[in-house]
Amino acid sequence: MTIPKLEFPPFRLPPETEALREEVRAFLKETLPALPQNTGPAASWTTHSPEFSRAMGARGWLGMTWPKKYGGHERSFLERYVVTEEILGHSAPAGLHWLADRQSGPLLLRFGSEEQRQSVVPRIARGECYTCIGMSEPDSGSDLASVRTRAEPVPGGGFRINGTKVWTSGAHRSHYCVALMRTSGQHGDRHKGLSQLLIDLKTPGIGLRPIINLAGRHDWNEVTFTDCYVPESALIGNEGDGWLQVTSELAYERSGPERFLQNFYVLRELVRVLGRQPSGFASAIVGRLVARLWTLRQMSVSVAGFLEAGKSPTIEGALVKDLGTIYQQELPEIARRLAESDATSDEDMADFLDLAQHCTMMAPTYTIQGGTTQVLRGIVARGLGLR
Ligand SMILES: Cc1cc2nc3c(=O)[nH]c(=O)nc-3n(C[C@H](O)[C@H](O)[C@H](O)COP(=O)(O)OP(=O)(O)OC[C@H]3O[C@@H](n4cnc5c(N)ncnc54)[C@H](O)[C@@H]3O)c2cc1C
Repeated sequence: MTIPKLEFPPFRLPPETEALREEVRAFLKETLPALPQNTGPAASWTTHSPEFSRAMGARGWLGMTWPKKYGGHERSFLERYVVTEEILGHSAPAGLHWLADRQSGPLLLRFGSEEQRQSVVPRIARGECYTCIGMSEPDSGSDLASVRTRAEPVPGGGFRINGTKVWTSGAHRSHYCVALMRTSGQHGDRHKGLSQLLIDLKTPGIGLRPIINLAGRHDWNEVTFTDCYVPESALIGNEGDGWLQVTSELAYERSGPERFLQNFYVLRELVRVLGRQPSGFASAIVGRLVARLWTLRQMSVSVAGFLEAGKSPTIEGALVKDLGTIYQQELPEIARRLAESDATSDEDMADFLDLAQHCTMMAPTYTIQGGTTQVLRGIVARGLGLR
């Protein structure tokens, strides 16, 4: 059996991205301390600041790759990559606009109606409109084609929705939910009869229930739809094309810098608490962590190069996500042990332990979000012709 070759060709970000990186750094240095909320060293795409989202929009760093006609800036995916790296590296509170900028905007531009593109996409690019993703249901996660929430076409136009979505990140802070629902069919091919709808979360018949995670945070929600009527104009793309659309949307989720920089703050703070002259032992461990991070980053940049060239590196993207998950789940424990033996001040150590504890409690989510480890390994195995 011939196994297809896996490729991670060395790829360098073009020189113009370095000037942009400096611009973003200067902006963050000025903007982050002035924010009204104390977003803290562990802030990331799960922390929120409307002021920050609007400031990003004003700088032209949301909707970067989108057409100017819809409020975008027609820049490259590689420029967007650099901005994302800096946002994560500086723990900027990007949570409000994250999903809209990464997934919903591109989805609407590709499949949405002209009305949806004109009314919603420019507001996303200004950092004023936030979306959440309604895919998972109580009995449907990895096996997404089994969704049961029904959006029944109503005589005269529109849909009446009944069902429950779960783990919906940020629904309580969002304006719209991009939801996958069953609009026709039930038996036979489960991938048929699914559609995506853009649902205004103020619509009557929608209920939100908080789900509190291990770290005590309210990030998730259960979203219920009870005889909720939405107009025909809520449909994204064609009725029945939901499966095709949703799988293309998932491609935006994997292999980006968030897959290895989500808890970068732990490494940054570890280096700080180890002081200016760490022991040889501490230096060696930090060196190993940085080497792993750099390897992941090179692999991720390589995937970004493929995407920029219009290719779809599914296996490579899945591998970056899997290896990034392993690294990010090991980091807090390695860092905590090293800080306990080598931190230079007790005061720093207390703050660091809080941070490491927070990260340890968030770490189980890495295995699940953006595709579970087992599902991703299944994708890699299939891509290599091993199953
Ligand atoms: C931080 C975070 C944020 C999230 N945000 C959202 C959101 O905004 N919107 C949304 O819709 N969902 C969201 N989710 C939900 C997430 O997409 C689902 O939890 C995920 O798809 C897994 O589905 P499940 O929980 O039903 O588990 P299951 O699919 O039941 O999986 C349970 C276990 O079985 C394994 N498994 C399942 N299928 C296979 C297979 N074919 N082969 C081998 N093993 C398999 C899995 O790997 C897992 O270990 C979020 C999850 C997390 C952790």
